[in-house]
Amino acid sequence: MARQELTDLAVRVRAGERAALARAITLVESRRAEHRADAAALIQEVLPATGKALRVGITGVPGVGKSTLIDALGTMLIEQGERVAVLAIDPSSTRTGGAILGDKTRMANLSARREAFIRPSPSAGSLGGVAARTREAMLLAEAAGFTVIIVETVGVGQSELAVADMVDTYLALMLPGAGDELQGIKKGLLERADIIAVNKADGDAVSAARIAAAELISAVKILATDAPPEVLTVSARTGEKLAALWASIVGHRDRLASSGALDVRRREQNVVWMRDMIADGLQAYLAQYAGDALAATTDAVRSGNLAPSVGAQEILARLPR
Ligand code: GDP
Repeated sequence: MARQELTDLAVRVRAGERAALARAITLVESRRAEHRADAAALIQEVLPATGKALRVGITGVPGVGKSTLIDALGTMLIEQGERVAVLAIDPSSTRTGGAILGDKTRMANLSARREAFIRPSPSAGSLGGVAARTREAMLLAEAAGFTVIIVETVGVGQSELAVADMVDTYLALMLPGAGDELQGIKKGLLERADIIAVNKADGDAVSAARIAAAELISAVKILATDAPPEVLTVSARTGEKLAALWASIVGHRDRLASSGALDVRRREQNVVWMRDMIADGLQAYLAQYAGDALAATTDAVRSGNLAPSVGAQEILARLPR
């Protein structure tokens, strides 16, 4: 892309033009080398207009109510004057055959609002690569004037930790009475969560949700970290305690900001981001120079005909130095 064209695109993104934002995100999602260079230049151009949004990560197993919650929360925030962007992280390796994250039909109310922008996950690449592209999309959405960025991911695998590495406040959604609280501890998830919300605290499930929350509260005490996550109940369906949940998200972010920890967190996240980009770039490089050989060598190692160390040597020898 010509320099002038890039500058025009950056200006239109900063003016909040949706079509320009969508186009800019498509550019940063591209893995072609010339597009990567354009994307980097574009991000550099919009950088001064970024960083002001409240960045929230929302994670939880399929069916926990992520899209219902985001639909309700996002709509509530828009009514309070916010502009809400929803981005998803869903690397194809963890795609579980169910709903596609960031699918607009899962957030019918929110997607009808012009103050909302909903974007599904980039569809290809390693988790690090997908995460890096989502970070770029986040900056572009901030430059376009979105004041709240919600990053959604499934609560399985590594993608939830990738989300924790790019947001200010990381919210883990749980189900009442599903034994989730203990699984969460096993996976180390609770150590990363800033807020844990037991969803579906409505109808017959109210007391189960309260019990689950109480168990989680004692569980997080055992973790004894400096900043144990806050635990609450919510109903995405009825909207009960939704305002309280938002208040605790804002409270968490404000405490981080006033202690200076927000700055530290975001800087550390930038380092993780750079490393993800380097790893992703190396992977593309490997695919370019040794893609075909890699498949054959992998088969040979798998069948026991080639020692792993020999296979690795053969592949590395193909890279130009
Ligand atoms: P996701 O896979 O995490 O995005 O979950 P969904 O938002 O699609 O919700 C899964 C199912 O749970 C749907 O049938 C929702 O209507 C239902 N659901 C979501 N939130 C609530 C809630 O707060 N209360 C109740 N009773 N059902 C809910």
